[in-house]
Amino acid sequence: MAHIEFRDVRKSFGAVEVIKGVDMDIRSGEFMVFVGPSGCGKSTLLRLVSGLEDITSGELLFDGERVNELAPSRRGVAMVFQSYALYPHMTAFQNMAFGMQLSKVGKQEIDKRVHAAAGMLQIKGLLDRLPRQLSGGQRQRVAIGRAIVRDPRVFLFDEPLSNLDAALRVSTRIEIARLHDEMEDSTMIYVTHDQVEAMTLADRICVLRDGVVEQVGTPLDLYNSPRSLFVAGFIGSPRMNFLTGEHAEPFGCATVGVRAEHLEIGDEGVWSGRVIHSENLGSDTYVYVALGADEPVIIRRPGTAPFAPGEALNFSPLPGQFHRFDARGSPLPRQ
Ligand code: ADP
Ligand code: MG
Repeated sequence: MAHIEFRDVRKSFGAVEVIKGVDMDIRSGEFMVFVGPSGCGKSTLLRLVSGLEDITSGELLFDGERVNELAPSRRGVAMVFQSYALYPHMTAFQNMAFGMQLSKVGKQEIDKRVHAAAGMLQIKGLLDRLPRQLSGGQRQRVAIGRAIVRDPRVFLFDEPLSNLDAALRVSTRIEIARLHDEMEDSTMIYVTHDQVEAMTLADRICVLRDGVVEQVGTPLDLYNSPRSLFVAGFIGSPRMNFLTGEHAEPFGCATVGVRAEHLEIGDEGVWSGRVIHSENLGSDTYVYVALGADEPVIIRRPGTAPFAPGEALNFSPLPGQFHRFDARGSPLPRQ
């Protein structure tokens, strides 16, 4: 358990600054998710917390104490990476026990902690297996177990599920959510590029852009009240539709943003376009509509939607369900 504070934290590699002054608090016991485009500094930020990289300037505090100079092994931080990095010749049990053996934890205590972690992760029956006898999802659970047995103050996850196939991602995601519920004292920082992981796991999401924090808030804060065009376009799947120029004129702004689920097709509408194609997902359909120069607009319809390519459609945002931005991408008051 640790309350983590970043105070104007900066990191340069040579002459290149990649973390450009991060100020942020992560509360004790909080599940914080970092999202942002590739290369924006998510992994670097985790490595600064773990101590694997030195902070160039600024301060990092755990429970009010500066840890900039504290060795990684003394920070009480455990990290789970995208690749599981298990020892191939050791069983799941041995992989989980190894770190504790090195730090001379007693055999009974090791047994107790491994079994407790295995219980939490539902891998008790797999402890005698070698990594190659485990599925990808099971291996990642062993890697998470290896982090848990160290009883860290802080868990760091760097895209831990991105090597797993879709079904395993879902089940392991639910496992991680349960884990957080059971270990309510541990602070967790989790990097992902997966919208669903971010929205479902996070207490709060931090959107990073080019080494700077764009916005921090609860998932629904960011979804409903993005403080920039960038956050509006980054949070939510499919991406928010943005309409500019003459399409935005009726709303008195440079860009109007509307989510696919907030567009209503009718006899009349502020906008009209032609259907390009429809994606049928079973539960919903995404209808892609061409509208002049802007990117195609995506309209979500429940069930199957009977629109043929070339068909003309009129559509509008639901009342109040749109976002206005000025030419610099800053939000304008709601209408
Ligand atoms: P993300 O995890 O968000 O994709 P990273 O934190 O890995 O981004 O990288 C942020 C930036 O820092 C990138 O431009 C990357 O090339 C650079 N970078 C990361 N590690 C190093 C390093 N050891 N040396 C030089 N540049 C690095
Ligand atoms: Mg990364």
